[in-house]
Amino acid sequence: MGLLSKGSPLNWEETKKYADHVRKHGIVQFLNIYNKVKERQKDVLLWGDEVEYMLIEMDEKNGKVRLVLNGGEVLETLQDKGEKTNPNHPTLWRPEYGSYMIEGTPGQPYGGTMSEFNTVEDNMGKRRREASSVLNKNETLATITSFPRLGCPGFTQPEYKPTPVEKGVSKSLFFPDEAINRHPRFSTLTRNIRHRRGEKVVINVPIFKDKCTPSPFVEKFPEDDGEAARAALPDHIYMDAMGFGMGNCCLQVTFQACSIEEARYLYDQLATFCPIMMALSAASPFYRGYVSDIDCRWGVISASVDDRTGEERGLEPLKTNKFRILKSRYDSIDSYLSSCGDRYNDIDLTIDEEINKQLLDAGIDKLLAQHIAHLFIRDPLSLFEEKIYLDDENESDHFENLQSTNWQTMRFKPPPPNSDIGWRVEFRPMEVQLTDFENSAFVVFIVLLTRVILSYKLDFLIPLSKVDENMKVAQKRNAVQEGMFYFRKDIYKGCNPALDGSSSAAQNGLDSEGDNEYTLMSIDTIINGKEGIFQGLIPILNCYLENMEVDVDTRCTILNYLKLIKRRASGELMTMAKWMREFVDKHPQYKQDSVITDRINYDLLRKCDSITKGEERCPELIGDPVNRGK
Ligand code: GLU
Ligand code: MG
Repeated sequence: MGLLSKGSPLNWEETKKYADHVRKHGIVQFLNIYNKVKERQKDVLLWGDEVEYMLIEMDEKNGKVRLVLNGGEVLETLQDKGEKTNPNHPTLWRPEYGSYMIEGTPGQPYGGTMSEFNTVEDNMGKRRREASSVLNKNETLATITSFPRLGCPGFTQPEYKPTPVEKGVSKSLFFPDEAINRHPRFSTLTRNIRHRRGEKVVINVPIFKDKCTPSPFVEKFPEDDGEAARAALPDHIYMDAMGFGMGNCCLQVTFQACSIEEARYLYDQLATFCPIMMALSAASPFYRGYVSDIDCRWGVISASVDDRTGEERGLEPLKTNKFRILKSRYDSIDSYLSSCGDRYNDIDLTIDEEINKQLLDAGIDKLLAQHIAHLFIRDPLSLFEEKIYLDDENESDHFENLQSTNWQTMRFKPPPPNSDIGWRVEFRPMEVQLTDFENSAFVVFIVLLTRVILSYKLDFLIPLSKVDENMKVAQKRNAVQEGMFYFRKDIYKGCNPALDGSSSAAQNGLDSEGDNEYTLMSIDTIINGKEGIFQGLIPILNCYLENMEVDVDTRCTILNYLKLIKRRASGELMTMAKWMREFVDKHPQYKQDSVITDRINYDLLRKCDSITKGEERCPELIGDPVNRGK
């Protein structure tokens, strides 16, 4: 989840005093990097995936499943046996927010050859086996996006009670601080977000109203001092801690581009796919023991780290704060970065004018300057006493401090100082799937898409406000089948830099006939195509594959992946969210009251585990890939 510094974390009051210092030096650090590497062209296309995992314990005797809070030890063991013993070890392990989470990536990035697509699933398998081998009996490694009973009494092993009144970092009614990673970065972020905001974070997720769900659905919280009663909305599942969001798992892909221009182009193009891929990967329908009416984690995480004050959120006139800020730090991107994207930048962009000017004066172009000046409207949230005064030529911690706590759908990543890493972009919206096969399918699909975009110079841009509307639709229950998404009609027209900003039709998002360049499409149409409307991404990828030299085995693997995506999009296969909903609905103990009991949770996760391990097939979710698990 970003930069890990060691040392003594400052509290919010102290951190605040250094906010301008961190921003000022962050910008200097960015400029130093930029000036050193802006011209670099030699980089090659590299990429890698990140999978986040939960450690869970299956207590068969009591019919309970719990999150095991030993991620710290597991991580240490994995690193000791892995990267610390052998620098070429095939896997890398990193901490994540929950003390029940770990994150795994391949040891080396993948390169540009097609045959590497055939190694992704193997590597994910290695990671899973490696991590599983150091777990205790009855423990297992789960790739589920949100733990259905996160925050319910006794959801952790060992069990801890939340501490809403005593000193603590979350002060949650539900989520004990022990479930937060012990590295001080995570608790500091948690506490400082709460202090900066001036109250606990507020997460309200609409409840799924089943036949017997009380209406209105209103909960009582015995330990509440009044804050929850004020914050909780009727007919919503209320949550009050960062862990409810950042304690969820996802699947991310990072690309290294050949140059900064290519990185900016990819950043923009991929941004339009964030809502589509999120809806397709939807895997998180349950929160705090209830069935919700959403299928994706996005809005939950967004609210879970929303450190904006009332003034910044527009609830009160601006007095002590500088800006009215429209979105949480975890949210969708607010501006495109490539020159072709400029005319589709139609979202109100709050920027720090001084920083913007400083960047422009230093020779940064308007689009990149405003992007950075927008990220830098935020305050640093965690700062270590030993890391205040830095060598701006050779360090980038202050830049990374703000960069890594702007958790957006896409992230544009300058190279670290003095490294041979190039300009990168990170694709962040996808939810993690049960099996390595599915996770590989999503990863390979998005990587292939970037190949096609770059080779054919495709253009998927639509006004950014429409991408935001798509993000809202994408999270709704069953969006894959019911949602309609704005999508570009003609992706071959490409962008004509000569026209940039000059044509008023283009600025309105109109094509030369005066029609909108985009229209509403279903995910099925976008992925599989529909006569007369859109060719479909899978047909485009197939066409690309036909023209590429690919060995038979790799081709077969890729086709299996594409088939999964194709059938998820058409509704022939269920999303994980839908599949989980059906499992709960059919469970003998389910009372149509939106409640996920311990027993239901246990049976669900038991089933998930055996599908993950390949002990059980699940054709309605995964189909029947021909050579899966070869
Ligand atoms: N777990 C977060 C998510 O589900 C992402 C954290 C990270 O940036 O690695 O989006
Ligand atoms: Mg992560």
